[in-house]
Amino acid sequence: MRRKLVVGNWKMHGSRAANEPLLAAIAQARPFGCDVAVCAPFPYLSEVALAWAGGDLRWGAQDVSVHEQGAYTGEVSAAMLAEFGCRYAIVGHSERRQYHHESDQLVADKAKAALARGVTPIVCVGESLAQREAGETDAVVKRQLSAVIHTLAHCAGEMVVAYEPVWAIGTGRTATPEQAQAVHALLRAQLQAATPHASRMKLLYGGSVKADNARTLFAQPDIDGGLIGGASLKADDFIAICRAAG
Ligand code: PEP
Repeated sequence: MRRKLVVGNWKMHGSRAANEPLLAAIAQARPFGCDVAVCAPFPYLSEVALAWAGGDLRWGAQDVSVHEQGAYTGEVSAAMLAEFGCRYAIVGHSERRQYHHESDQLVADKAKAALARGVTPIVCVGESLAQREAGETDAVVKRQLSAVIHTLAHCAGEMVVAYEPVWAIGTGRTATPEQAQAVHALLRAQLQAATPHASRMKLLYGGSVKADNARTLFAQPDIDGGLIGGASLKADDFIAICRAAG
């Protein structure tokens, strides 16, 4: 039985004043019976680390550089994230693939850079609405995951994978549990062919997860928790989702 994982993705939201009560409320609501993390904007990592130090709650970043160090203005290395106690780094979020033109290979290289410093990459894959309607969902997610599997090679079993259909992110339109499970089963099978650790790997679903749909999504056999955007900014909603996974 895989322990569930719920990860909040704050995106470019928050302020020091707003983060404080949110972090405190989540800490107060423990224990959840599942692993819980938030991926905060870089400037807030020290605030999260301070607020949650010494407990079982985890935190991470929303991106990471492929580079170790050097003249890469604006980039943040995996070693820096590790210094702030980051357990996770999201890589390949559809917003980065779309707005920053990140390729499958760049995403894979970021995942490798994170792992090299002991930061677990949460690798996002997912199809657009046009791709789903054209019947391309399976091919798209397999291609995205394949690049990471090949680049991580024998370490592929160390990543977390998040299936996030682009048409469900921030839209209020969630994949049905059956749609999500079908893609998760496909991804698990792909991982099974690549690593002996596939059955213990965590596959998260993301895309308009809310307190009222989380339980049925998380009840699917290959869905091991969620990557939560909008609902992770409201303490009550995020806590309810964590409880649904526990
Ligand atoms: C996300 O940003 O990864 C996400 C799933 O967002 P939302 O929950 O708001 O759809």
